[in-house]
Amino acid sequence: MLQLQNYINGQLVAPVAGTYLPTIEPATGQVYAEIPDSSPADVARAVTAAEAALPTWRMLPAEERGRLLVRIAELLERDLELLAQAESLDNGKPVSLARTVDIPRAASNFAFFGTAAQHFASETHFQEGVALNYTVRHPLGVVGCISPWNLPLYLFTWKIAPALAAGCCVVAKPSELTPYTAFLLSNLCIEAGLPAGVLNIVHGTGPSAGQAIVEHPAIKAISFTGGTATGAHIARTAAPLFKKLSLELGGKNPNIIFADCNLAEAVRTSLRSSFSNQGQICLCGSRIFIERPVYEVFKTEFLQGVAGLTIGDPQEEGTQQGAVVSEAHLRKVLGYIELAHQEGGTLLAGGQRIELKGRCAGGYFLQPTVFEGLRPDCRVNQEEIFGPVVTLTPFDTEEEVLAWANSTEYGLAATVWTSNLTRAHRVAHALHSGIVWINTWMHRDLRTPFGGMKNSGVGREGGLEALRFFTEPQSITLKL
Ligand code: NDP
Repeated sequence: MLQLQNYINGQLVAPVAGTYLPTIEPATGQVYAEIPDSSPADVARAVTAAEAALPTWRMLPAEERGRLLVRIAELLERDLELLAQAESLDNGKPVSLARTVDIPRAASNFAFFGTAAQHFASETHFQEGVALNYTVRHPLGVVGCISPWNLPLYLFTWKIAPALAAGCCVVAKPSELTPYTAFLLSNLCIEAGLPAGVLNIVHGTGPSAGQAIVEHPAIKAISFTGGTATGAHIARTAAPLFKKLSLELGGKNPNIIFADCNLAEAVRTSLRSSFSNQGQICLCGSRIFIERPVYEVFKTEFLQGVAGLTIGDPQEEGTQQGAVVSEAHLRKVLGYIELAHQEGGTLLAGGQRIELKGRCAGGYFLQPTVFEGLRPDCRVNQEEIFGPVVTLTPFDTEEEVLAWANSTEYGLAATVWTSNLTRAHRVAHALHSGIVWINTWMHRDLRTPFGGMKNSGVGREGGLEALRFFTEPQSITLKL
């Protein structure tokens, strides 16, 4: 069986305790590999390696650091097909999605930050005849990066690349559920010639390896993406240690359809924003609010689209919906479907587990599910489900839909569909969301600040925000 290893001090190494955990292919329910069940001792080794690498790495010219990151991007592109297959196997997502979204974006993350490091500048504040004040942005030092299972390599590299570009050394942990592409990245870093200890990848569970990263006194910052409850726990642990924190957490995103929009485009994109990656993207729009005059026509066309989605083996080319990530997650989502019935919802599509035949007989497949008739304040419309489940709700006024859209504890992303430009801006400004898309969804420019309001997180990733996060500003004043 495939056995993954940690990547510490430039080498692939077994965990100190010699223990491993099974990892399962969601499409079959079968164990396909084992991963290090790393302990605080492994994290300590990784931190020691990172500390040793730091003085040289932080002093390398940004151009040279950038060249290495761009080289890793090129290797990710070279191995795109292998990595896409691995991501699909590990996560259950359609291989076509991994090939067109996950892996190209992982490569872009390295290329973007590899070059961004050379454009990063700090400020000067000149006081005429009195003083020259300037700011130096020093790399923070050794930092921790912890990522979730839904977009494994995409989100892992979104943290690692800016940290390395800023001159930090990294101890990183991918989700125990989706370790494979992080392991393959280790090999590519070795091939690219990344100096030993600059990046260390420790596999294992959140409570063991993850917690050890958060608690380690030499780790100066934690960049975390995951659930809101885990984020709160990490904040409680890290705050007394005065670590810098970037938390990208859950969402319960509204998708608002005004009657004057391009309805065909809204339906097409809403199918993607509802069910891409089996609804397991923090940016998915799970609450669809539709202005009443177009409610019935939107519903009819949306349900036709849902009926046409191809669900099946993620490794098959035509598959649009693969498996959800684990049996526990499947149960959680089915629990919310049951709750939607209890809360008085009317099931319009899906609602059941799918039992496939052949290779995928034991896989965790779920029908894309649509409900209507649920109150905006019910649990199904307030809590993050993170699966292929959406609700449809008609609205009558802009005030009403804004109140509903803003009524959850989350504030990550929102989508607005309208051809009225004035309204588009007005509604966007009134939404309590870190990200608003108008007449599009998941359109990403890596320079823009990425992150959520309220319980969706603290801080922003992306562009210069990420480089600022991984650096410590120092203000120096010279009296003239
Ligand atoms: P989790 O919060 O369960 O896990 C995220 C990561 O944290 C995993 O690597 C996990 O390890 C680790 N972890 C768990 N406990 C601890 C701990 N005590 N200390 C340190 N690390 C720990 O989230 P999921 O993996 O279930 O991901 C889904 C969630 O992520 C959803 O809520 C989703 O909305 C959110 N998300 C947010 C995004 C954003 O940008 N805002 C983007 C994508 C997802 P392990 O899994 O190995 O146990």
